[in-house]
Formats: sequence, C-alpha cells, structure tokens
Amino acid sequence: MTIMDKRSGKGLSFVKRIYLPRVIGMGIGLLSVMAAIAPLSPPIWVWLLMLFNGLLWPHVAYLWATRSATPYQAEQRNLVLDSLMGGFWTAAMHFNPLPSVTVLSMMTMNNVAAGGKRMVFRGGLAQLAGMLIATLLLGTGLQLNATPLQVYACLPMLTLYPLALGWVCYQLAIKLAEHKRRLSALSLTDSLTGLLNHGAWKDLLLLKFEACRQQQGQAVIALIDIDHFKTINDTFGHVVGDCVLRQLSAELRRNLREGDQAGRYGGDEFCVILPGTSETQACQAMERLREQVASYRNPQLPHLRISLSIGLSPFEAGLDSPEQWLEQADKALYTAKHAGRDRVNFARNEAAALKLAYPD
Ligand code: GH3
Ligand code: MG
Repeated sequence: MTIMDKRSGKGLSFVKRIYLPRVIGMGIGLLSVMAAIAPLSPPIWVWLLMLFNGLLWPHVAYLWATRSATPYQAEQRNLVLDSLMGGFWTAAMHFNPLPSVTVLSMMTMNNVAAGGKRMVFRGGLAQLAGMLIATLLLGTGLQLNATPLQVYACLPMLTLYPLALGWVCYQLAIKLAEHKRRLSALSLTDSLTGLLNHGAWKDLLLLKFEACRQQQGQAVIALIDIDHFKTINDTFGHVVGDCVLRQLSAELRRNLREGDQAGRYGGDEFCVILPGTSETQACQAMERLREQVASYRNPQLPHLRISLSIGLSPFEAGLDSPEQWLEQADKALYTAKHAGRDRVNFARNEAAALKLAYPD
C-alpha cells in the first residue's frame, strides 16, 4: 500500500463518518428552514434549492467525496459548502433568530468536531459569504419574531442532531481506545514469533528480580540459542530460518507453564523467566524442550536438524541487579556453546546440571 492509498483510506473513513450525521442534520434542518422561509414567499428556485440542500445534497456530497482522488480534501470542501449554504439560509430567513441560531450553531458544532479551530474559522467565513450571496440575490430583510410553528420546527434539529453527532463521536472514542489497546500490545510483542520482545521481557525481568528479592522467592531464567543458526539460514534460506524461529517459539509456548514468561531476546536467542521453579525443575523443563526440538523433522527438508544451547541461572540473594542475573545466564550459555553445543548448562553448580542433563 502506498502512502497515497493510506491517505485516501483515512479520508474515506472520514467521509463515511460524516455521511449519516449530514443526512440527519440536513433532513431535519430542512424543517426549520422551510417553516421560517415559507411566510416570506420566496421564488420557486429557492424552494428547489432548499429541497436539494435538505434531501439530496448529503448523498451528492458523499458520492462526490468518495469518488475523489483525495476524499479527505473533498470532504473539507463539502463542509465549507455546508457552511456556505447555512449562511445563505439564515439570510434567506431574514435572520429569524431561533432557526438562524439553530442552523449556525449546529453547523459550527459539526465543523469543530470535523476539523477543529481551522474548520470553524473557514466555516465562519463561508457562512458570512453565504449570507452575502443570499442578500445580493434575495434582498435584505429582518424577521425577529418567530411563530410557534417556527419554534416547533426547530425542535427536532435541536434534539436529534446533537444526539447523532454525539453518537458518532462516542463510536470514534471507542475505536480509538481499541486502537490504543492494540498498539500497546504490539509494542510489547515480537512480530515474527508473537513472544514478548526484548524490551518487554527485560521489564518483566526487573519486576521478577524485585519480587524475588523482597519475598525471597525462587525463579530461574533461561537463555536459549539455536546452534549454528547462520548455517541453517545459509543452507535452507531465510524463509526456512524464520519458520524455525516460529517453530521454536511454538514449542516454547507448549512447554511452559502458565506463569512462565518467554521472549525473543534478539536474532536466534530466546529468553524465559520461570518463576517459583527450582533448579532441577528448570533443568528438566529445558531438557525436555531441547530434546523435542532436536527430534523435530520436516519431511520436505529431511536434512534440517535443530539443536539448542541453553544457559540457566537461578535467582540468588547475592545478585546485585537483573543485569547481573542475566549475565550469569549468558555465561552459562557461553559455556554450553563451548562445551560442544546441544546442551543445557547452569550458571553455577555446572557439574550437577550437566549430570542431570546427561546422567552417565
Ligand atoms: P551459534 O551456534 O554460535 O549460536 O551460531 P549461530 O550461527 O547460531 O550464531 P550467529 O549469532 O552467528 O548467527 C545468528 C544468525 O541469526 C545471524 C542472523 O543472520 C540470523 N538471524 C537473526 N535474526 C533473524 C531472523 O529474524 N530471521 C532469520 N531467518 N535469521 C535471523
Ligand atoms: Mg545461534
């Protein structure tokens, strides 16, 4: 999608949002204008223009804007034309106070909702221009007394239009809140694997570190790295490489418990926090993962093998910071790589962990 398409997409939703309030506003606005103008016996073209503006214009405006190459700009022009016509009708009604204020204030409400200060200003100018055109074409006049019929004819506009506009604004607010929720979830997620991204996982690590320190809790972190992943990419291509990363993240999700937090640390490296877990349990869980991944076979790629090196580090009271905790896991991973890869290794007590991983 090009930038231009995106812009017209934005414009289209703007046009669609305004369509219904305009149909309602113009339709019921017609009542107040008709009731005020009828006693002034205007020429036939004024009646035709009034009917066009009240009943047909919203549909014409919609089609005009949606078929435009730049719907957003076209809709801005339509809003200016709305105001021009509004100004025209107030002068044509000889400024009958209630219908005039009704038409102008509803229109201004619409303008501020659609385009803020700028649109109110442009709309105001257009209203003045409309008044001028009507005065030139129909002459001047002042009608300061409203009949009961004219008052009643304004009531639907005064009650229904704010309802319609308020509803549209409410729907927009709901949509905005939903977008905000989705965006904030996206900002925490790694797009390839759907796991937590680096930043989000590090934030959780800090929280877990503080919780363990305050409550003398138990937790283990694991750093998982795919062995020779570069060779997998070089041999089978990056698309297969991406599939392997996704496959591993799916395997991780399957193997972890409810409270475990898995993230993609970056590249082919994954990270997990295992809260309330002993060293033995963590080692068993990671061994299971390692074995499952090692036994993965793809019939279309019979030569593809995946092995993992995993460094584990339990929380210890002596740790100064989450960074130090992570560094321990990184060291354990490094040792696992240097000891021949395809293995789980503990930061401390390495002999015991290796024994657990490879009992004799
Ligand atoms: P080692 O066993 O020492 O971990 O070797 P390695 O080849 O796995 O390690 P290295 O860090 O050299 O290579 C990681 C590779 O991962 C390099 C990079 O091109 C690749 N990579 C990083 N992110 C992505 C990704 O999102 N998709 C794919 N397909 N490859 C990626
Ligand atoms: Mg690697």
